[in-house]
Amino acid sequence: MAVEFEEATSICSHCDRAIPAANIDLHYAHCVRNLEICKVCGDMVPKKHAEDHFLNIHAPVACSLCSEKMERDILAIHKGEKCPQRIVTCEFCEFPLPAVDLAEHQEVCGNRTELCHLCNRYVRLRERYNHETRCGVPDNSNTVEYLRDVREDPREQSARGRQQLDISRRRLLFTIAITGIAVLLGTLFSRKTEDNQVL
Ligand SMILES: [Zn+2]
Ligand SMILES: [Zn+2]
Ligand SMILES: [Zn+2]
Ligand SMILES: [Zn+2]
Ligand SMILES: [Zn+2]
Repeated sequence: MAVEFEEATSICSHCDRAIPAANIDLHYAHCVRNLEICKVCGDMVPKKHAEDHFLNIHAPVACSLCSEKMERDILAIHKGEKCPQRIVTCEFCEFPLPAVDLAEHQEVCGNRTELCHLCNRYVRLRERYNHETRCGVPDNSNTVEYLRDVREDPREQSARGRQQLDISRRRLLFTIAITGIAVLLGTLFSRKTEDNQVL
């Protein structure tokens, strides 16, 4: 059975820690001689390591991507979300490139056109999503119900997923005559989802 003794303590006026009263004089002499308070974080640090402490813990660091100096604690956020040199992906062609170049690239890249298989018109990539939600809006409720029955649980599909199902309807029905419904739906849906993944 462990017994803890309530030992009489005194507070060291230099480091503010509770020290066994019997040792306080010795501790205080040692404490004043060897420790100093860090002006940044308030920790007690050995005097001879004070500079290391500052350099390793508090000194600004340079981002390895853009070389900008900043406080250490924001470096991770900077590299992940703010650094102009961090690598991002074009939402149209999925090409990785530095964030600083993204806007200019997407301006050009999004102007490229692609054939819409539903209406047979060329649509700008930047307008593709809006176009697809409007192009081929379902006009036959039986078809929609039919597709819903095939899905195991339509509630699990995102609204966007359902829209994609609806707009894929014509292409789908054409092929349904030839191939099995379940296989086709699975493939088509997962491919569409991948195609539309955007960073
Ligand atoms: Zn002390
Ligand atoms: Zn410190
Ligand atoms: Zn940076
Ligand atoms: Zn692109
Ligand atoms: Zn179209």
